[in-house]
Amino acid sequence: MQQQLTCEQVSALLTYYVENKLNEPLKKYLEYHLSICPECSEKLKKLKKLVNNYNEISKRINSDDEIEENSYFNKQYEDFKLNLSAYIDNELTDEENIRIKKIAISNPIARKDLEDIYTFKRLLHSSFDKTKNDSKEDYSKNILNDIYSLHQNNKLDPFYMIMTIFSVIIAAIILGVINIFVL
Ligand SMILES: [Zn+2]
Repeated sequence: MQQQLTCEQVSALLTYYVENKLNEPLKKYLEYHLSICPECSEKLKKLKKLVNNYNEISKRINSDDEIEENSYFNKQYEDFKLNLSAYIDNELTDEENIRIKKIAISNPIARKDLEDIYTFKRLLHSSFDKTKNDSKEDYSKNILNDIYSLHQNNKLDPFYMIMTIFSVIIAAIILGVINIFVL
């Protein structure tokens, strides 16, 4: 024989029943009462509806939270991307610097971007240094060439000057001699 539950007892147990937290014997007693009591069975219907609504609402709230979190994440990342080159070139204020640094710490995508840029910068810098060194070599070579040719010119110039003066003196002497003889 089924043990009879009162309507009050059923009311007290309904939420546990909906959440499936009753043990089998108690569940059986309750289901028996529901089958013979339209009032309690109506209460169950309402309660199930309430629980469903609650689940719907909490599901929606959770997904809203997710969307909001995502858009916050995206907004941060946009901010990060906008300021990235200025951050790397040290053109930001201290406050902005901290903000970008924080995003890089909390956002793995942003951190990866920053690392990539630094790697790229390093590569660029080392190749620039190489070019600078290469041109430095060229530069010193050019200077050496300049000094060398200047040195040669210095050697040659006085020679030509002396030769020119010498030629003029000799020409003058010859002309003087000619003049003496002619006159
Ligand atoms: Zn009842």
